[in-house]
Amino acid sequence: MVMQSQDRGMTVGLRGQVGELCYRSGLLHSLQRVRSWVQKDLRILAYHRIMPLPDPSTYEFDLELISTPPERFREQMLLLKQRYNPIRLSDVAAALNDGKSLPADAVVVTFDDGYDDNYRNAFPILRELGVPATFFVSTGHIDSGRPYAYDWLVHMILVSDARQMVLPELGVDVALSSDRHARRLVATDVLCRMKELGALEQTTMIQRLEQEWQMPSDTAPPDCRPMSWEQLREMHAAGFEIGSHGVHHWMLSKLPLAELESEVRDSKAALERELGSVPLLMSYPVGSTRAYDDRVIAITRDAGFQLACSYTSGTNPQPLSNRYALNRLAIERNMGKGWFAAMLTMPHLMSYPTPDYPSGRGEVPACSH
Ligand SMILES: [Zn+2]
Repeated sequence: MVMQSQDRGMTVGLRGQVGELCYRSGLLHSLQRVRSWVQKDLRILAYHRIMPLPDPSTYEFDLELISTPPERFREQMLLLKQRYNPIRLSDVAAALNDGKSLPADAVVVTFDDGYDDNYRNAFPILRELGVPATFFVSTGHIDSGRPYAYDWLVHMILVSDARQMVLPELGVDVALSSDRHARRLVATDVLCRMKELGALEQTTMIQRLEQEWQMPSDTAPPDCRPMSWEQLREMHAAGFEIGSHGVHHWMLSKLPLAELESEVRDSKAALERELGSVPLLMSYPVGSTRAYDDRVIAITRDAGFQLACSYTSGTNPQPLSNRYALNRLAIERNMGKGWFAAMLTMPHLMSYPTPDYPSGRGEVPACSH
């Protein structure tokens, strides 16, 4: 198929193949039962977008944000319901507060960012199956129609008429070919490099490119639309949890103190203003170890948040050692049914490793959002 040959990011790799083999062997269920006796750890799944897999040769946004298509998401949630114990993130906070342990095979489902496909595609499936979930949203984007800045940056690089891109902040001066895949590689490189900049410098750089290329983000097409407060109110009323992913989706550790405090407190105020009383749950934007630090954790805790999720790959052994740096298991779009099942059973072997960010070594690491 055209899509498979062109989307080199779809390569399943060794983990995926081993996962499918384990799944087909029929041993996973027994393995899971044994594991749940010896290892009491909390698994938190991290999703971004739930949407049909597009043709990469024509899709104009960041493919890496697509976690899984709706039909596969439904399979995944059915598996959770049948073989695991899906619980709410606030149940984790309550257990921690009461000094109680979590039920065996506890799994939490989370979403980052707040794309409107979460409402259109994920919410109906979760509601139908009765699987709880937490949606972390960047409150400044809700109702705005404005795309998330990193996704818009990828879009600009993919479709701009420009033939050269110069970003002095990153030491980037690169020709833009007409090949969409080549442009995706450039975009990935830029995304990774720019996450070493301060958050405000990142914003300035993206806004400058918008002006230079005359591609203002307020003309964004519906493909990258965030949810509305009305949608979130409906999800909240149906029992789903809505948490903070900051206001502007800025990397919190890369902000001056005043802006960091505003991101945490203003996102909390927006959630409470729009939704009423909510359990205060946080997911740090980008979420890698360079996206939060002791200062971020202290401000999150002092603002009243009960828990916070990182994007560090892993499970959370009980008793939980740091409720403000919970590990998660990222779900990626090339994860088939068998790989997903094997990843839940053997997360340490089958999950995506956490990208390493060796600052200053000039390497281009894999990125998280
Ligand atoms: Zn995010």
